[in-house]
Amino acid sequence: MTKARALSIKDKNAFFATEVIERRKPRADDVVIDIDYCGVCHSDLHCARGEWPGSLYPCVPGHEIIGRVVETGTDVARFKVGQRVGVGCMVDSCGVCDSCLAGLEQYCYNGNTGTYNSPDVHIGGHTFGGYSTSVVVDQRFVLSIPDTLPSDAAAPLLCAGITLFSPLKHWRAGPGKRVAIVGLGGLGHMGVKLARAMGATVVVITSSPAKAEDAFRLGAHEVLVSTSPDEMAKAARTLDLILNTVSAVHDYNAFMRLLRIDGAQVLLGIPPSELAGPHVMRMVANRLTLAASTIGGIAETQEMLDFCAQHAIVSDIEIIGASQIETAWERMVQGDVRYRFVLDTKTIGGEPSLSS
Ligand code: NAP
Ligand code: ZN
Repeated sequence: MTKARALSIKDKNAFFATEVIERRKPRADDVVIDIDYCGVCHSDLHCARGEWPGSLYPCVPGHEIIGRVVETGTDVARFKVGQRVGVGCMVDSCGVCDSCLAGLEQYCYNGNTGTYNSPDVHIGGHTFGGYSTSVVVDQRFVLSIPDTLPSDAAAPLLCAGITLFSPLKHWRAGPGKRVAIVGLGGLGHMGVKLARAMGATVVVITSSPAKAEDAFRLGAHEVLVSTSPDEMAKAARTLDLILNTVSAVHDYNAFMRLLRIDGAQVLLGIPPSELAGPHVMRMVANRLTLAASTIGGIAETQEMLDFCAQHAIVSDIEIIGASQIETAWERMVQGDVRYRFVLDTKTIGGEPSLSS
């Protein structure tokens, strides 16, 4: 086992503390990664603050990891020491179910292993995420970072990026399609950039009128303020696809009326309580789809990284040190993120020699 420094929360009401955690001794298929940056996803907060069922403590969040390979197991040929790599929301899956065989590890029938908050079959306890200085991951779940992508601004691609890329592709966003992104936060701003690069007409639906200017800068063609009944009424039956990234309980049914016949709304946000049921009558009358989606498979995540390199897409970030994490989370709750916090993991204090 090796040791790493980590930002850890001991229960749902606790503040972060710097702790030393253990990482497993690398097996033949493992890659040992010194972490440089980790994006701060709203899921980290939902989980660590016990807003979702099943939180395990102590909790070390973080699933938007970019770092460098410092050691490889004997069966690892794809990665070399010194190479820049990424790790997203999963670090393992069964590999043999129909979903895994189809490259849809995120829908593994036996449950994928989350980068944090999943049982750790190797050393017991549960997995610890990327708010730490190093991690050991099976090579099947390690991504290559294209040379042109900077480590800090590319980190959020590993969750926010793929969570939008996958449904945009699945529901065929592209030229001639009017695609709306609801919620201009970490996920949402990636959705705007990706949908624009795919050739769709992009509409941002925001509850924050002050974000309109940013929305256009990020690539939106139109902006709709969801709190304006007038604007919402005018936009009725104008959209083909809605990707909804809102992190709080809200009335997603209000957006269904914006869809044209055969339109689809895909729920991506996972609020602390279940949302109300759909308005079936409206859906029936317009042959609408209400769907949901989570992240993307590993091959698709690599495809997304390569797509981002090709189109020069990265996240708009604000880099924070370890001492700023609580403030960053508070700002995330207030919707005051422009548009992703990224933790510089080198600032996690303690003995510098601990990491691998
Ligand atoms: P975020 O950066 O905090 O952005 C969420 C956005 O939702 C806010 O910027 C805000 O946008 C909007 N919003 C927040 N509260 C609202 C309210 N009461 N009413 C209307 N809009 C509100 O969060 P994130 O990291 O993008 O994550 C968003 C959600 O996706 C979280 O629930 C997270 O857990 C979930 N998630 C899901 C997956 C998946 O695989 N499906 C992956 C990652 C994250 P405006 O100011 O523009 O309205
Ligand atoms: Zn995430």
